Amino acid sequence: MYPSLANSEELLLDYATGSLPVAPSLVVATWLTLNPAARRQLGALEAIGGALLEESRPASLAAGAKAALLARLDEPQDETLDEAQSAPPPVAGGRGLPAPLAALLPAPLEALPWRRRMPGLKDWDLPALAGGKARLMRVAGRTRIPHHTHNGLELTLVLDGAFEDGGRTYAAGDLQLADPSVDHSPAVTRREACLCLVVTDAPVRLTGRFGRLLNGLVRY
Ligand code: ZN
Repeated sequence: MYPSLANSEELLLDYATGSLPVAPSLVVATWLTLNPAARRQLGALEAIGGALLEESRPASLAAGAKAALLARLDEPQDETLDEAQSAPPPVAGGRGLPAPLAALLPAPLEALPWRRRMPGLKDWDLPALAGGKARLMRVAGRTRIPHHTHNGLELTLVLDGAFEDGGRTYAAGDLQLADPSVDHSPAVTRREACLCLVVTDAPVRLTGRFGRLLNGLVRY
């Protein structure tokens, strides 16, 4: 549904231009609440986009303009943007979920009807949103997610705790993008549980040793 999203800049650009579907937009809005660097990136993008639109007509972003915009985003940005946008507290430490996400929850986190998918892995589906399936995923400490790949795009935003994947640590406020080229098995290596907001626009496919057998049994 949104297969061209190669990186977070393109995600923010689509968000800024209003062309991102609702489900991934929820991830981006929540990410912006948690992550000052993402807010800076969006601010820079909007500033450059505004300048570009003033310079050229028509106002629609043609492919060339989009590429130029992304290229200019790679240039060093004015750090004064930093102070212009105040940072709400992160969810870590029990200070609550970001507002865009909290608004969609019918009950406090603990009272949601979590489903147990496998030992150490629980999830809860958000109300249906256009453009993807959104769910909260809770992974216990010292738990590995089974190897899988993706039939579409998977956006994973860490709300609390952290997970490791591909030699990188994703902590609260970090966003991971995965697509059909990614076959991975993220793991929570710490003692603390990890809470994530996950949006997919197509089912994932288990790829491990018993993946084919399990595909019909485990759906997440
Ligand atoms: Zn994945």
